[in-house]
Amino acid sequence: MRILDDIKLDYQDVLLRPKRSTLKSRKDVILERTFTFYHSPKIWTGIPIMTANMATCGTFEMARILSEYKMVTTFHKYYSIKDYEKFFKTFDNPDYICYTSGIREQDIKQIKLMKKKGMLKKFSFICLDVPNGYLQNFLEVIKDIRKMCPEHIIMAGNVVTNEITEEIILAGADIVKIGIGPGSACTTRRMTGVGYPQLSAVIECADSAHGVANERGVGRITADGGQQYPSDIAKAFCGGADFNLFGSMFSGFEQSGGETIIKDGKKYKEYFGSSSNKAMTDYYGKKAEYRASEGRYALIPHKGDIHDFIHELMGSLRSTATYIGARQLKEFPKRATFVKVNRQLTSYLEKYDMGV
Ligand code: 5GP
Repeated sequence: MRILDDIKLDYQDVLLRPKRSTLKSRKDVILERTFTFYHSPKIWTGIPIMTANMATCGTFEMARILSEYKMVTTFHKYYSIKDYEKFFKTFDNPDYICYTSGIREQDIKQIKLMKKKGMLKKFSFICLDVPNGYLQNFLEVIKDIRKMCPEHIIMAGNVVTNEITEEIILAGADIVKIGIGPGSACTTRRMTGVGYPQLSAVIECADSAHGVANERGVGRITADGGQQYPSDIAKAFCGGADFNLFGSMFSGFEQSGGETIIKDGKKYKEYFGSSSNKAMTDYYGKKAEYRASEGRYALIPHKGDIHDFIHELMGSLRSTATYIGARQLKEFPKRATFVKVNRQLTSYLEKYDMGV
């Protein structure tokens, strides 16, 4: 047994120190980034924000809207080939959509079939998603998918430590998904005791990913989960995240997935984790007996149309930029000085006892 004494940080444990700024207006801040990658030869330009691959936000409806803003929709795993065939009759913008696959036999069968039908070309991104990215078999699958899809931007995870981040990139991923346990619908920390404070995970894994470099590009990461407010997204970018991926903030809108429910005259939307009993029974028939549910189900107040939220989100990132003196998103890590703060008990209670 070993104890790591070093205190690790969550988003709520820090604030950003304001700095001298030469910016005249928030509208001058550039939020778009252009990335090259370690494996994929693609050059991607957009606002590096992604939906989680959850049924409540990784939807076709969301992709139609987010692609207008050059943000990426990571589809949930439950769409069939037929669903995609129908979707692609009216959608053609590969740069802003990501196909998600698990690593079970039937997942690999589906991805091979998609390739054979020429449908994988319609996505720039592929996400290989497992709750625990430390399994040796996961690396083998990444290697196989990289061989099969040399052009795609492959994202894989989830992990939270530096050595495995490097391994996943070397195995074939371009972007490593960082986060075990911070998600608002996630109960992994409660059920298993496993996790890592998210801001520290982002800082440490970004540092290792960016150290894996070749003539084409560097390894990249996405912060995944635990961003409760737009400020957390800014903090993740400041910590070195290349992309920010999140679920609850994209859920609850008209365009999000999940049923709309009226209760006591108020409008709600369903929000649930991918490992919740709800997801497992809805999409796989039932929860396997050997598995514990590691996801929450909640009804969240209906948030209306998503466009206002996207404008708020971009506005808050521009505002952070002006406070820290960054002219573009790319400069966030260079300009950032974090100040450690006393974590407020209330935000902790809110996160763990009141759900989303
Ligand atoms: P959020 O943005 O809502 O805080 O977190 C979204 C992330 O939580 C997802 O991208 C995924 O990594 C994680 N997640 C989603 N559903 C579940 C679940 O049921 N269990 C666990 N352990 N994590 C989940």
